[in-house]
Amino acid sequence: RERAMVERRGRLLGPAYRLFYERPVHFVRGEGAWLFDAEGNRYLDCYNNVASLGHAHPRVVEAIARQAALLNTHTRYLHDTVLDLAEALLATMPASLGHVMFTCTGSEANDLALRIARAHTGGEGIVVTSLAYHGVTASLAELSPSLGEGVPLGRHVATVAPPDAYRGGPDMPARFAADIAAAFAGLRRHGIRPCALLVDTMFTSDGVFPDPAGLLAVAAAAAREAGALFIADEVQPGFGRTGTMWGFARHGVEPDIVTMGKPMGNGHPVAGLAIRPELLERFGRTVRYFNTFGGNPVSAAAGLAVLEVLRDEGLPANAAAVGAHLMEGLRALASRHAIIGDVRGAGLSIGCELVGDRGTREPATAETARIVNALRERRVLISASGPGANILKIRPPLCLTRDQADIFLGALDEVLTG
Ligand code: PMP
Repeated sequence: RERAMVERRGRLLGPAYRLFYERPVHFVRGEGAWLFDAEGNRYLDCYNNVASLGHAHPRVVEAIARQAALLNTHTRYLHDTVLDLAEALLATMPASLGHVMFTCTGSEANDLALRIARAHTGGEGIVVTSLAYHGVTASLAELSPSLGEGVPLGRHVATVAPPDAYRGGPDMPARFAADIAAAFAGLRRHGIRPCALLVDTMFTSDGVFPDPAGLLAVAAAAAREAGALFIADEVQPGFGRTGTMWGFARHGVEPDIVTMGKPMGNGHPVAGLAIRPELLERFGRTVRYFNTFGGNPVSAAAGLAVLEVLRDEGLPANAAAVGAHLMEGLRALASRHAIIGDVRGAGLSIGCELVGDRGTREPATAETARIVNALRERRVLISASGPGANILKIRPPLCLTRDQADIFLGALDEVLTG
């Protein structure tokens, strides 16, 4: 049956999409951290970074259904849920961020952030990390080096190595800041004025690099020194995943713009940005911005319900506690499985780097692919990232329990044992 679906999908949707796993899965239902396939088999979702509250969370479902039954429309009329959501979001941010703008996807949020940053700085130059992913539009694809050589970077884009504390050594904040300064200086030499440093605050697609805390404050200072803005892409780390509401908070830095998406509607498309009001002045004067669906009543209701559930269920604190338990378990596995070279993370954003040799730290690329697929056969879902595709990326819903974390650890232990 799956084979027939794969064939039909290729015939109808064409060749550009990729599916996960050697044996793709067909899910029909989700609940909490579990996904159920068409035969009713249960899978533990340690991959998902969208339904962060748990799949089909009843309070979000109810909020969406209630608003959809009343009214959904474009965003040119007054409606108050979007204002309630803006107010609730700003209450989670540093006081310097005073406005919120809504979009439908993280890509649109980053695209808008860059338009505003260009209008404010008058510059074009963007610095990103060497395996960054920031979105799907033409303007973001050309600054998303993780898309590979088939998608060339723009002339106005320079890359810096991510702050890899495992391979990079202890002088990391200073070196990262020096790289950023050099990247902006290099752009200037080509006549390109600085616009923004844009980073995922957990460096998720680069391979998950949480440390050292405080690093992003040093990085932001280097960007500002060059005349650029600091844009924190919180599309992956935001909404409690790192154990705090926002990934940048661990670094004691106030970004100029924060972009957000993915878990913001627990699966319903809603995204946006928070920004220092003064940065919007020129853009607001010169551009008439309209986004048909961005912040529509149903999306706003979903977003508001997400914030309420995060607070009422204490999910950031749960992410911190269960994440610490998971990392402790992974480190215990590392004492028995030499392939585990490094375990790192914050809350439930965890990277587990697999190496062929702990001395040379050579990426265990093929073995990592085997492990991801073998876990799928044991009905545990994760993925891999990093330049050697050898870093297990572990991002379960924030409602994960210790018992579920132990199921994951047990399955990984079995798979590593072979
Ligand atoms: N930024 C980051 C860090 C992301 O991981 C993603 C999505 N994977 C995006 C932006 C783009 O978000 P979307 O797919 O909702 O457009």
